[in-house]
This record gives sequence, structure tokens and C-alpha cells, in this order.
Amino acid sequence: MGKIESEKSTVTYMIGLYCRKKHKQNSLCLKCEELKAYALQRLGTCSYGEQKPACKVCKTHCYKATMRERIRQVMRFSGPRMIYYYPLDYVRHWLKKSPL
Ligand code: SF4
Ligand SMILES: [Zn+2]
Repeated sequence: MGKIESEKSTVTYMIGLYCRKKHKQNSLCLKCEELKAYALQRLGTCSYGEQKPACKVCKTHCYKATMRERIRQVMRFSGPRMIYYYPLDYVRHWLKKSPL
């Protein structure tokens, strides 16, 4: 799986986890659906393609400010919880280079 596809599945998973725990929804609520669509669209049109840096250190910062803040909330919440859902090595790697 390429970097973009891998980050897409990670961010999808993290938003789903966030929504289940914070918004008590089984399927994504409208706000989280909106955030997911936005994040996937950004990744899909990232001008760095497969060479992309982690979004959080990216100089371009292509997210608009409100979405950036929302995705950061999701990362803060879901990041540490990924340990329960993903193999440890993956999480260690991810925490070093968290994509967003
Ligand atoms: S923040 Fe940077 S790395 Fe992330 S999608 Fe936007 S341009 Fe690509
Ligand atoms: Zn939600």
C-alpha cells in the first residue's frame, strides 16, 4: 500500500474511533463525515504525492484553519488509543511520524 492510501486508511480509522467514543455514534455523524471527506480530499490532492512529509510538519499546510484544528483534536484523542487496535510496532512507528 502506498503512503497516501495508508494515511487515508489511518485517518479514516481515527475519525471513526473519535466519533464512536466522543459522539457515541456507530456510523459517522455529519460533522465527522465532513471532516473525513475533507481529510481524504486533501490527501488525494497532496502536491507532494508519495513523497509527502507528515502533515503536521508540512510547510504547505493545505488544511484550512478550522479543519486543521478539528483534525488535530481527532489525532490527540485517537492517537494514544490506537495502541488497542493496531500492532505495537505500527503504533510506535506512527507516534514518531504521526501523519497529521
Ligand atoms: S498538509 Fe502538506 S502533506 Fe498534508 S496533505 Fe496538505 S500538502 Fe500534503
Ligand atoms: Zn462524530
